[in-house]
Amino acid sequence: MSSKKILIVDEDPADLKLITEMVKELGIEILTAATGQEALRVIASEEPRIVITDLTMPEMNGLQLCETLRRHEGIRFIYIIVVTGRGSGKMIEAFNAGADDFLTKPLNKDELLVRLRAADRIVCMESDLAKRTREVHRTNAEMAVAHKQLNRANERLREMATTDELTSLLNRREAMSRLSELWAARDRYDQNFSCIMVDIDHFKSFNDLHGHAAGDEVLKETAELFMKNIRQTDNACRIGGEEFLILCSNVGVDGAAVCAEKLRVEIEEHAYMYHHEELKVTVSLGVAEPTPDMEGPDDLLKAADKALYRSKDLGRNRVTVAEGSVVSGPR
Ligand code: GH3
Ligand code: MG
Ligand code: MG
Repeated sequence: MSSKKILIVDEDPADLKLITEMVKELGIEILTAATGQEALRVIASEEPRIVITDLTMPEMNGLQLCETLRRHEGIRFIYIIVVTGRGSGKMIEAFNAGADDFLTKPLNKDELLVRLRAADRIVCMESDLAKRTREVHRTNAEMAVAHKQLNRANERLREMATTDELTSLLNRREAMSRLSELWAARDRYDQNFSCIMVDIDHFKSFNDLHGHAAGDEVLKETAELFMKNIRQTDNACRIGGEEFLILCSNVGVDGAAVCAEKLRVEIEEHAYMYHHEELKVTVSLGVAEPTPDMEGPDDLLKAADKALYRSKDLGRNRVTVAEGSVVSGPR
């Protein structure tokens, strides 16, 4: 027998002794109880997996004991054999109450032993099943944790692949991808958009004068100024060392030029604090929108770049709208 303990419940000490004698040879630890209440206490402390209970007992009879054990969610599965000296009249009631087997007195030892071996097989199968269920639950929980970690890692990877580390703005690759999407949406849904190319003025001299670390701070703060001053539907990207591209959805160059001028003023007026020193920079900007002669996003970037270099040529710290872009007019 794999089961380690069996509980015999009978109010009659002679019957208790008789059954105890019969099951002795199974080599299993035998527990006894004279009432249903006592049986419940023994079950709680000793956890036997097989119970043989008499049907007629005072206070809590065998049927009530069965019902109590089946109702109790915290108790593991127990194989219950109900025994009665009152013929088989109570058999259906016993099974309805949750009994697994039913025997009538006088008991036949051989029959009792084979039934107990069958009980032991079922208890073993139940134990096996419970163990496997626990393993499945554990594996599921582990998989859920691994899944969460994987999602977080993927999220982080996606972020790393699309954003610039220093400024947290979109990187060049992501900028080109968004630009292509805007271009496609414009073709398909006739949604206009514009772009603003921004380049920090004399940044090489700035770095030479204040150091590369101060330059990095300026790049970070400039990115923050962009984020504070553009619309939520616009995208600010760092496409080169001190070069930025702002993609403005649903506006033509006139709207984008207003945005560009606002950014220019914000940056010009901003006090960049570095080691308690107030530093200043300016930017030059070029604004362009798609025009009929353009074949794709590259032409738009070239137009914005050309406008930006016009700003540089005109003395920097200014906004230039690309030639061919129609300000305040239809496309
Ligand atoms: P211009 O007004 O014509 O744009 O002059 P410029 O000096 O800004 O232009 P140039 O292209 O000659 O130099 C760009 C400088 O930007 C060179 C480099 O020192 C600086 N730079 C580029 N990337 C970074 C960066 O990640 N951090 C810092 N601190 N400086 C950078
Ligand atoms: Mg540059
Ligand atoms: Mg520059």
